[in-house]
Amino acid sequence: MQSDRHIKIEIPTRFFSDLEEKPFEICQVCGKSLLREGVSYVVEKAIKNYPGHDFSSTIYEMAICVDCHKEIQKSMSQESMQNLQLYYQSVMEKKGRQPMIIDLNTFNLDTWLSTCFFKGGEIKDMDEYQVVAQFEGDKMLLTMPPMVIGSAAMGEMAALMSEKTTDEMNDFRNRFMGPSPELEELIHGKKLFLL
Ligand SMILES: [Zn+2]
Repeated sequence: MQSDRHIKIEIPTRFFSDLEEKPFEICQVCGKSLLREGVSYVVEKAIKNYPGHDFSSTIYEMAICVDCHKEIQKSMSQESMQNLQLYYQSVMEKKGRQPMIIDLNTFNLDTWLSTCFFKGGEIKDMDEYQVVAQFEGDKMLLTMPPMVIGSAAMGEMAALMSEKTTDEMNDFRNRFMGPSPELEELIHGKKLFLL
């Protein structure tokens, strides 16, 4: 029997690198190879919808190992970090403190990822949203379930972060992903962050 603490599934194509059309292979910060057993990492994407069209595009995508992820979190101010934690807690309280248990027999990733984890809105009604999920080697972890952060939640969370934290995160993104016009647009709106 599989331990509940390590529910894993094959990496869904929506978490593949759109550029390479296959799973991310290296941490975009330190270059560590990700598909080896026991290597934990996070994949994050921002998606833009085009209202009225059944079409969306990935504005940015990144894979980052847990070690580098921790380093980035260190650059967040204590206050920003606490604010985000409180935000998360208040959402979980509204959800009724139910433990997040995923039953693999009925789990449907597309359904799970069709609404904002925080506010429940449907992604098809949003201009943009982020998806974040955790991985280990060549599997996706469901222990910390993948989540959609809708545009409204992105705005609320961005507002909780200090100017300094936001600037540092944006610097980080520019350094590792290179600027793109759409990314610039988001950065000026200061909506981007890493969980
Ligand atoms: Zn790394």
